[in-house]
Amino acid sequence: MAYSEPFLREAIRLSQEKMDANEGGPFGAVIVKDGEIISKGWNCVTSANDPTAHGEISAIRNACEKLGTFTLEGCDIYSSCEPCPMCMAAIYWARLDACYFAGSMADAADAGFDDRELYAEIARPWTDRNIAMKQALQAEAQHVFNAWKNKSDKILY
Ligand SMILES: [Zn+2]
Repeated sequence: MAYSEPFLREAIRLSQEKMDANEGGPFGAVIVKDGEIISKGWNCVTSANDPTAHGEISAIRNACEKLGTFTLEGCDIYSSCEPCPMCMAAIYWARLDACYFAGSMADAADAGFDDRELYAEIARPWTDRNIAMKQALQAEAQHVFNAWKNKSDKILY
């Protein structure tokens, strides 16, 4: 659906409210379907001890639970800030139709949240990344992929 400003304001309001409540960093998000907010999420990394509990991820989890589905086609996400690489990927995995955001990655970096380095890291070959990575046992993993390909009762996503 087309961009609608009140939803983005709600995402920003949430970012302030939950930051003030010491839930986590200053990030909020809402998911909209058919012109209504169906889910809200905010950063609760430090209160939930969950490094993946970003605003967008939390909103996606809440929306999927509410709708009883693993796809959010037909929904839009409004975020108080440009999504980090993890949330951007989650937005794609969730098949959201659109993402509207307020703050920029540069604004987040200025506040101490430097997502730009993560985007750069992901663009590098895995052999050049900062966290050590090694590939092994590829044939054994391929065996499981082959089983998946032949699995007759799989649920595609
Ligand atoms: Zn994120």
